[in-house]
Amino acid sequence: MVRVIFSFVFSFLMFLPASLFSQEEPHIIVLGTAQDGGYPHMGCTKECCKMAWKDPSMRRYVVSLALVDPISQQWYLFEATPDIKEQLHLFRQLTSGKYDYLPRAVFVSHAHIGHYPGLMQFGREVMNTRGLTVYTMPRMKKFLESNGPWDQLVRLQNIVPVEISNGSELALSGEITIKCFPVPHRDEYSETAAYEINTLTKKYLFIPDIDKWCKWNENIADKVKTCDIAFVDGTFYSEGELGGRNMEEIPHPFIVETIELFTNEDKQTTEKIHFIHLNHSNPALFDDAVKRSIINKGFSLAEQARRY
Ligand SMILES: [Zn+2]
Ligand SMILES: [Zn+2]
Ligand SMILES: [Zn+2]
Repeated sequence: MVRVIFSFVFSFLMFLPASLFSQEEPHIIVLGTAQDGGYPHMGCTKECCKMAWKDPSMRRYVVSLALVDPISQQWYLFEATPDIKEQLHLFRQLTSGKYDYLPRAVFVSHAHIGHYPGLMQFGREVMNTRGLTVYTMPRMKKFLESNGPWDQLVRLQNIVPVEISNGSELALSGEITIKCFPVPHRDEYSETAAYEINTLTKKYLFIPDIDKWCKWNENIADKVKTCDIAFVDGTFYSEGELGGRNMEEIPHPFIVETIELFTNEDKQTTEKIHFIHLNHSNPALFDDAVKRSIINKGFSLAEQARRY
């Protein structure tokens, strides 16, 4: 009898998905939280950056995520930033070298200088990679294929740009799918992509750069409700942050505007929001009172080197 029960339990276990036995589930590690210029920012002599030059622990890399799949033993990089060298090293440290040095593929959202120049490190002068997949939307793919020095990386097959079209679902493994969609942004050279990352247990939203929520044909509150964790554009905290500079030329949803937009939503919804892509001028980077007030209102700030 015992033997019958044992063999029954054994055959039952055999048919459970392998993911249930592995200690780790797919997850995200944040590799950078700053706007394209990083923090501190070149040429800034104000208090915001003085502090970060003095105290290295305050510095932040440009916005980037690592999507880690312990089941297939692969990882994926979102955004190839100017800080890619430090970010790949950080990833290796945080994961104790358990994964390949290079990601299985790179996702690049758009042709602004915080989001794709890291690709140059894959070229002949540095890593000389072989056929590294770079997923982009169609205009971004064309941009890489038809402008130097990126076209050389393509010609030498250091990188292989692969198009993901609007709304199509890309299966990276049995556990992970990526959905990509365009958002309104200053699209001088490419469209701007945002992502939904679905794992068996969690759904992440990643919108690093967008002009204003009202310019988008989707409702951000509805989008946030359908996911578990939303990394969203928190470039500026509020109006007037850039001193004399006209902020209408570089529109982003202010953190205070996003908070305002979610006033009628419950804490369960607001705490999914993790602000990312913070400009050096954003007090949420360096002012504890501002950080506290964002958190007290039920929102979060994405933290570099943290696992989600
Ligand atoms: Zn950006
Ligand atoms: Zn500054
Ligand atoms: Zn941008």
